[in-house]
Amino acid sequence: MPIKENLRKILETIPDHVTLVAVSKTKPIEELMEAYESGQRIFGENKVQEMVGKWEELPKDIQWHMIGHLQRNKVKYMAEFVSLVHGVDSFRLLKEIDKRASGQNRTIDCLLQMHIAEEDTKFGLDRTELEDMINSKEFKSLANINIKGLMGMATFTENQSQIRREFRQLKSIFDDLKNKIPQLDILSMGMSGDYKVAIEEGSTMVRIGSSIFGARNY
Ligand SMILES: *Cc1c(COP(=O)(O)O)cnc(C)c1O
Repeated sequence: MPIKENLRKILETIPDHVTLVAVSKTKPIEELMEAYESGQRIFGENKVQEMVGKWEELPKDIQWHMIGHLQRNKVKYMAEFVSLVHGVDSFRLLKEIDKRASGQNRTIDCLLQMHIAEEDTKFGLDRTELEDMINSKEFKSLANINIKGLMGMATFTENQSQIRREFRQLKSIFDDLKNKIPQLDILSMGMSGDYKVAIEEGSTMVRIGSSIFGARNY
């Protein structure tokens, strides 16, 4: 099915308060342009080099989200333009983003990635690490990052109740954190296979790739 049609169908099923990130990793410029022409302006990539290349070629009103696991030494390449970093899972990484944002005289919006999957292959912080980080003096001193919310990935499984349980857990961590940091407004959870459950459990941002652009060949 063409990209435009896929996008339209997905947008019909997500409520207005949920933002769609079109995950375009591995996909060529022409396919991103097709989504752009039907109005999509937020794209998600998981490799810095690839995102930089696409940013250089595509219209400048696109908002680029880094959704993948991020190495500190790559932050500098995207500091000029990245609009939201989803996968912040350590203080050292956050500090590097702050430093590079400062070098560009800007503030970079970030989401802290939480480990919610019962499988142990996914990255992310646990509750204790999150608490320790946000309560530290050093955290409060970072002037060029803006924590907008949390991100998480559920276990890759057919078990719907497990997926729901993991999303529900993330929502509860989000609500607790919002008591301390009231301006938080993004809960990034849900992908092609599980975004409907994620929205039912309180997601405000879904990251959808294959249901828009088709399966990826690596
Ligand atoms: C690839 C990816 C997605 C999109 O996955 P689909 O199953 O293709 O929708 C979402 N989030 C992250 C972090 C990803 O790496």
